Amino acid sequence: MKPGDFSPSNSKYKKSGREKERNVSSLQIAVPAPQSFRTVTIGRLPTAVVTAEEMAAQMVADCVAARKARANGQPLRPKVVFSSNGQGVSLAGDDADFRAIMLQADMIHADGMSVVFASRLLGKPLPERVATTDFFHNAARSASLTGLRFYMLGASEAQNLRACQAVKAMYPDLQIVGRRNGYFSRDDEEAICKDIVASGADILWIALGKPKQEEFCVRNREMLRGVGWLKTCGGLYAFLAGADKRAPLWMQKAGFEWAYRACQNPGRLAWRYLSTNPRAFAAMLFASQEQR
Ligand code: UDP
Repeated sequence: MKPGDFSPSNSKYKKSGREKERNVSSLQIAVPAPQSFRTVTIGRLPTAVVTAEEMAAQMVADCVAARKARANGQPLRPKVVFSSNGQGVSLAGDDADFRAIMLQADMIHADGMSVVFASRLLGKPLPERVATTDFFHNAARSASLTGLRFYMLGASEAQNLRACQAVKAMYPDLQIVGRRNGYFSRDDEEAICKDIVASGADILWIALGKPKQEEFCVRNREMLRGVGWLKTCGGLYAFLAGADKRAPLWMQKAGFEWAYRACQNPGRLAWRYLSTNPRAFAAMLFASQEQR
């Protein structure tokens, strides 16, 4: 499939997904046994003690298990993987419903540097920040090697298309079996989920922003039986499409990536960070005291 092959509907991808569905043994790699990671509670969210490479290995293991179950006619409920950052911690602190949704995840990883700093304060340091924007590339490399398939949901039609094209150019062996923009109504969700399952996707990337994307996962988990992982990814497609730029590495490491993002999109993000950062800081401090 060439980079320009992405049509607005994903019908053409379904066939290739289905064809390969029968060939579970095409995943010829040493797959680690599924495991559960230790967690540290930060800002009331149990955050996995995990590196990006361990997470990618877990993704492969879970998706292979999901494929085998699917091939045996007993599709599993997908694993749900959410991320924690300042905005998420702030929302989870203020909104019990959002917190309850977050707690349904099989794994929450430290997407923001502030979460890693809080873990250090706590004396239970996380091994590293696993920013979704970086993890996507660990996942894409692993999926290219193992034959796992991506479905890209979310963002505007143009940005979704550009992101898929860019990913395909970066990872020619990666199978993107479907894509769809993120602007739809609740009534559309059943058809969308059927389409995703029919595509044979192993990993569904969901970029609808917080809290929509987390709500989507929990609400539709049952309908998405057969998919291996549901992974939320917020503003990822803007980076993949080249619309947004990552902050310099020193800013990422210092925990100021949010400031860089806010400068790029002040209208949309400045208020978000100004309002959620203080609350996130307080929630993380509270969690630190709670655990000492
Ligand atoms: N979005 C969407 N459907 C919606 C609302 C938002 O697809 O109904 C997309 C939006 O186009 C953007 C992403 O969700 O691509 C949200 O990005 P944001 O930067 O807010 O995510 P973050 O990484 O900061 O959580």
